[in-house]
Amino acid sequence: MRTSYSALDTYKTCPLQYKFRQIDKEKTPKRPEQVFGTVVHDALKYMFERDPLYPTLDEVVSHYKSAWKSAAENVMWRDEAQKEKEEAMYMEEGLAILKSFAKKNNPWNFNAVELESRFSVDVKDPESGETHTLVGIMDRLDKDPDSSQYEIIDYKTGKKMPSVAMLEDNMQLGLYSLVIVERWPDLKPEDITVSLYFLRHNEKVSTTMAQEKLELVKKNILEVIRAIEKSMEENNFPPTPGPLCGWCDFRHLCPMWAHEYKKEEEYTPDDNELKEALSEFLALKDTEDQTKKRMAALKDIINRYLDAQGLERVFSSDSYVTRSSQERVSYDMEKAEPALREAGVWERVLAPDKKKLEDMLPDLPESVQKELEEARKVSVSKTLRVSKKKGVAEEEEEE
Ligand code: SF4
Repeated sequence: MRTSYSALDTYKTCPLQYKFRQIDKEKTPKRPEQVFGTVVHDALKYMFERDPLYPTLDEVVSHYKSAWKSAAENVMWRDEAQKEKEEAMYMEEGLAILKSFAKKNNPWNFNAVELESRFSVDVKDPESGETHTLVGIMDRLDKDPDSSQYEIIDYKTGKKMPSVAMLEDNMQLGLYSLVIVERWPDLKPEDITVSLYFLRHNEKVSTTMAQEKLELVKKNILEVIRAIEKSMEENNFPPTPGPLCGWCDFRHLCPMWAHEYKKEEEYTPDDNELKEALSEFLALKDTEDQTKKRMAALKDIINRYLDAQGLERVFSSDSYVTRSSQERVSYDMEKAEPALREAGVWERVLAPDKKKLEDMLPDLPESVQKELEEARKVSVSKTLRVSKKKGVAEEEEEE
């Protein structure tokens, strides 16, 4: 069998998800977090490429920015309405990651000998005699220039960070060690450090895999491969629901989620429901129109009372209403036009724009300012604010 660590990991998480992805080759949308991960990995690769010098941080940042902008166009956003906000959030997060990573990891201090290199390693099953090939991509391989020590680094953009103890029998790291030991058989597994770099935390967790640990990793790999072969023979890939279902792209195909998707897909109101909804909607619309009219009449009564009494606030038994005034300025452009033409600035306010006019007003000749003063109109809008007495939350209503 030719497979990869991520395929084995998928099978371990859920055999049915493995079937959808690896056997049925179901298409999956490009999720923002996946695309983000790819773009950040690409920027880190670029950071360690010498040509003949390493790029500056500014160059890495602009490489990332343009890569994210073009990649984000193909992302399947969960909520199209939030697309811009999410896109900007990922952009900022990526920049923060790259900047803090660069502070701790000046490329001149490392000797990266391979970046995103493809590998394949054979693992022989002593039970069946079959040889399986595991393929993958290694993010970075560093070599100590003064010794035969190597370090394999895998970048992670996820939020969770495991303890060193949890790396002891990590299949992915074991596989990386196997690759290097296969490639250079004179190396001892202890000479190879395997690290996961958690970019969001800017922390690296490292371990080495002694020969017995590598044997354990091989054993685990073979166990998963045998389980996959058995599933294929029996055509049995049971769904295994768990917390990761939330990130699964195949929920719409999964029997564990069938009811949820059926509800969403099949709901269509019938004629009776429509008839009832329509009559309730029209009745509510009627009430809404009447309420608006009545509210306007009541506001008028309150405003007249406030004007007559010279007050700005009136009280009921449990609430009070406060009136506030806001001045709005506008210009009669027909009146203002001759003066503006005379001043030679009419073209500048051709599209009548109060803000522009106000900005240029102090620079205009006094005579023009005077004429404009006559064209100036002031309207006052009045707002009624309803409040509850004694700490009851205020409710505001604007006129
Ligand atoms: S939704 Fe959950 S149970 Fe179904 S295939 Fe995906 S991971 Fe497996």
